[in-house]
Amino acid sequence: MVFEKYADQLYRCNRCRQCRYVTGKPLALIDPATGAPRENAVMPSCPSGFLNKFAAYYASGKLMVAKRILEGLHQIDRKTAEIFYTCSLCGACDYQCSLNLADSESPNKLEFRPSEIFEEIREDLADLGFGPMPNHIKFAESIRQNHNPYNESHKDRLVWAEGRNSKLPSNGNVIYFVGCTTAYRNPAIAKATVNIFERAGIEYGVLQSKGYSNEWCCGSPLLRTGQRKLAEEIMRHNVKAIEESGADTLVTSCAGCYATIKRDYAKVFKDLSFEVVHSSEFIQRLIRNGKLKPKQVDKKVTYHDPCHLGRHMGLYDAPREVLKAIPGIQFVEMPRTRKNAWCCGGGGGMMSGFPEMASKTADVRIQEAMDIGANAIVSTCPFCEVNLTKAAEIFHRDVSIMDLAELLV
Ligand code: SF4
Ligand code: SF4
Repeated sequence: MVFEKYADQLYRCNRCRQCRYVTGKPLALIDPATGAPRENAVMPSCPSGFLNKFAAYYASGKLMVAKRILEGLHQIDRKTAEIFYTCSLCGACDYQCSLNLADSESPNKLEFRPSEIFEEIREDLADLGFGPMPNHIKFAESIRQNHNPYNESHKDRLVWAEGRNSKLPSNGNVIYFVGCTTAYRNPAIAKATVNIFERAGIEYGVLQSKGYSNEWCCGSPLLRTGQRKLAEEIMRHNVKAIEESGADTLVTSCAGCYATIKRDYAKVFKDLSFEVVHSSEFIQRLIRNGKLKPKQVDKKVTYHDPCHLGRHMGLYDAPREVLKAIPGIQFVEMPRTRKNAWCCGGGGGMMSGFPEMASKTADVRIQEAMDIGANAIVSTCPFCEVNLTKAAEIFHRDVSIMDLAELLV
């Protein structure tokens, strides 16, 4: 029976619909005007439901649709599949769900995770021939041929390092996993990150073979869109390359690479021989042990929690500690922050599959940042940065969007 393996999960949802909103659990929302906690504040949590304005797009609706498919009351078709793909897998519904009684910021404390069910359902939809979406098939083909989803030549993966005074090292205790989005769409992040390593005297390397990058896409775009088989092929390449380098630490700039390698690779390969660290954690360690002294930056900034770093991995404090250590920074929080953060809208295959919705979701976030008077949105994910920057261009928003590492050079 289709979807039978989800039966236990699907019947748990009681359709209370609490997952649609960020509510006071405990009251975490502040009044942007006064900075004071709001009484009984309720704000949307789910970009998919909020922007599509139809019950089926919320987690509660998707679970109901899946249940009807399981019971044979609804036949899967392309439109139904599209509903499951119109979701950034942001995980906001996981934390707002009334079935999760522990009020925790840790993904390990969640007893019921609708977003994980939706990700698994995508694999089934792909097996049944109803998924993924056309643009997801195109980027998978590019990953197969070029090792990146952007249809860029693999030979250009290290173009960001051209013009350096010294050769980019290929070995060290620390391997810097640059990621496709940083390498091809946001090279300033890669340049800033290696600048930080070099100023702090870190022995680092970037995976290379025969003069070219030996790093392939981490596989996150494939896993999120139900294309696991190819994802596991490329995972094997990356793990082999990292382990052969002998490094004990892998640093990623991208929240998606971080969650994928630390969580999803570990599920497939059990014991990884290296520690996976996000650049914000690495920078936090460098500042704590005195190896990096942040320079003065006079800006009023807010921090956007990438879903893959915050809700999915429970990493909220390191970026904030780094921001607060930068002299001159005025740091302000948005009303929806940490586990309650509004997703940028780019993840889960949304930016390629449903670009208009990805941009509209990002614009909601930009408005939230502008409402508290921030003139820069800082994030720790090149993918969030690309999606927010694109939305700022489309909707003519006067706000700068940058990565944490860029504030430290
Ligand atoms: S994962 Fe995010 S976008 Fe998808 S249903 Fe849950 S809250 Fe909505
Ligand atoms: S997913 Fe959780 S919060 Fe949402 S309707 Fe079901 S039980 Fe309620």
